[in-house]
Amino acid sequence: MSRARVLILNAALGPLDYRVPHDMRVEPGSIVIAPLGPRQLVGVVWEEDRFPDVEPVGDNRLRPLLNVLDVPPLPGPLRRLIEWTAHYYVAPPAAVLRMALASISALEGARTVIEYRPTGATPDRMTDQRTQALERIGVRQGLIRELALIGGVSDAVIRGLVKSGAFEPVEVSTDTPFPVPNPGYAPPALSEAQQAASSRFVEAIRAVDFQPFLLDGVTGSGKTEVYFEAIAEAIRQNRQTLVLLPEIALTEPFLERFEARFGTVPVSWHSGLRQSERRRAWRAIASGQAKVVVGARSALYLPYPQLGLIVVDEAHETSFKQEDGVHYHARDVAVMRGLMEKCPVILASATPAIETRHQVELGRYEEIKLPSRFGGAQMPDVIGLNLLTDPPERGRWIAPPLVKAMEETLKKGEQSLLFLNRRGYAPLTLCRHCGYRFQCPNCTAWMVEHRLTRRLACHHCGHVIPAPDICPECKEEDSLVPCGPGVERIADEVRALWPEARVAIVTSDTLWSPAKAAEFVKSVEAGAVDIIVGTQLVTKGYHFPNLTLVGVVDADLGLEGGDLRATERTFQQVMQVAGRAGRGEKPGRVFIQTRVPGAGVMQALISGDTEAFYTAETEQRRRAHAPPFGRFAAIIVSSEDSREAAETARLIGAAAPHVEGMHVYGPAPAPLAVLRGRHRHRLLVHATRQLDVQDILREWLGNVVWKSGTRVAVDIDPYSFV
Ligand SMILES: [Zn+2]
Ligand SMILES: [Zn+2]
Repeated sequence: MSRARVLILNAALGPLDYRVPHDMRVEPGSIVIAPLGPRQLVGVVWEEDRFPDVEPVGDNRLRPLLNVLDVPPLPGPLRRLIEWTAHYYVAPPAAVLRMALASISALEGARTVIEYRPTGATPDRMTDQRTQALERIGVRQGLIRELALIGGVSDAVIRGLVKSGAFEPVEVSTDTPFPVPNPGYAPPALSEAQQAASSRFVEAIRAVDFQPFLLDGVTGSGKTEVYFEAIAEAIRQNRQTLVLLPEIALTEPFLERFEARFGTVPVSWHSGLRQSERRRAWRAIASGQAKVVVGARSALYLPYPQLGLIVVDEAHETSFKQEDGVHYHARDVAVMRGLMEKCPVILASATPAIETRHQVELGRYEEIKLPSRFGGAQMPDVIGLNLLTDPPERGRWIAPPLVKAMEETLKKGEQSLLFLNRRGYAPLTLCRHCGYRFQCPNCTAWMVEHRLTRRLACHHCGHVIPAPDICPECKEEDSLVPCGPGVERIADEVRALWPEARVAIVTSDTLWSPAKAAEFVKSVEAGAVDIIVGTQLVTKGYHFPNLTLVGVVDADLGLEGGDLRATERTFQQVMQVAGRAGRGEKPGRVFIQTRVPGAGVMQALISGDTEAFYTAETEQRRRAHAPPFGRFAAIIVSSEDSREAAETARLIGAAAPHVEGMHVYGPAPAPLAVLRGRHRHRLLVHATRQLDVQDILREWLGNVVWKSGTRVAVDIDPYSFV
């Protein structure tokens, strides 16, 4: 009798054994439907010896598999990656598998779905909800559920609109092949340094072997053009390429550049895709038809059968670290996937992470440098502004020298960018009469005022309330004052200074879709914007030749909190935003406003001495045995019941094993003590590199029992310490 071990999509369970019926053919990787109790679940057939701890079940007790799905089996290297991820990040294998099977609809046989699109007709009867839905949906098309989500209304409202004739059904084929990018479409003229770099990549792709690279090029040096030539070679070899970007807002400018080089856009993968688009992309990826895929970190686990190249762009970005579910770091997993697939991996960055530079020093990664800007453009001048000696006027945030520079830039018809990494109008609203402060009811966090939408919002859980007129505590009118600036407030200051200037605010609130991002890029390129005010969303990827002035409103902001990477992150962020200045023929200037001009990181930014900064920072990490010289793991305990959370954390702390080379700090209430209504406690494990922390954690936590409402999350190599 034939049996199969199957990993099913149920995170609470490990692999289970099933009987394979006579007329069914399965192999490792086959995607199957398996019975579990009264339910039918999707699963993947796995090699038996990969999970040796599974209790064997007698042949007579096995239930038969129900079906094999008509999609290619999950490739072997991906199965190894899933095992590695589950092991390294101490996660259930099924939770990792779910990321590979990211479109359940792609596994189904149907080839068409019914979507709905607006007809332009206005229903006879209009309600507020209908108006809102029609406004927000605009010309978009999608499933009922997707339209309801975009419109912010219930499914029933959309169905009502369909009935009234405002939307009509369209049959959408989900399996049309994607156009194949043409490597010979528009090859660029490369500089000598770019040419040398791209030749090395081409050679590595032809070698069909694992080779991690750090493509370390200053901002504006043309890293993208270089790795595009690597992609061209992968296409010629008929292999697939995956390009990971840190933000979906960066997808749109990337698509445009890609199309200019290859004559067609690549396949994109991100959370904003409609179900039918997801399905089509997944199937094209799994069949090998999709040659180039660009996506957010979730694209990393898709079932590419012939991966020939992985590129991680802006590889230093912390958004590659996933902070819920499986806590993985896409940059690190990308390198691991390259190892499994036997293909080159290019980590591209102007400000590589210390961890990545360390791998270069150890000789594990090959470094390719692009030391100067493309086309003879110069690096911008960087000027430090001491906010203590040269403060802005009362109630303002832009210091006089920066105001003067912006004035000059406006007069010349050039563009400026002000950077402040804070969304909304003001991070805190308080009552000057009684001192009341608006706090989120679900989190240990202030409610942030958003004047554009006239609301207060919690940036942790999304809780919103209408902007209040009176103090809820003392009922006083006109007593509420905003404290501190967000980008909206800076934009107000700019408008007050130059009423005629055209201002664009760029945050995830204004650029929430690739289409919005494209609109923004076009308007800046067309010269329809004089001053951009933005969060970290504008610090990377964009190339605006007429942008010659950058002002960092509060360079000290990132240093608050003071976690392990605060200084490095501040350095990277300011370097990146400074890198937006003077990318064309006109030279750029950068002003950094700070209260600590003497701090090492500010000195390094002003002098441009990157190497000195990295050397000092790396030395500090070495002395503290911090990553990459030692390792951290966090254990986060959370529960809606505050006593339960504290008690479980205490139990875990008490059960901590004594291991040479390992230290456990905590438990202690997390800095973000309440999040989304859950009380949180943290433990931090600090260990030497040699220790197998994961095995220790598995055994340790395996000995502690907690109630079902309590969650215990393990975060290996944590980036967040709140
Ligand atoms: Zn009050
Ligand atoms: Zn909240």
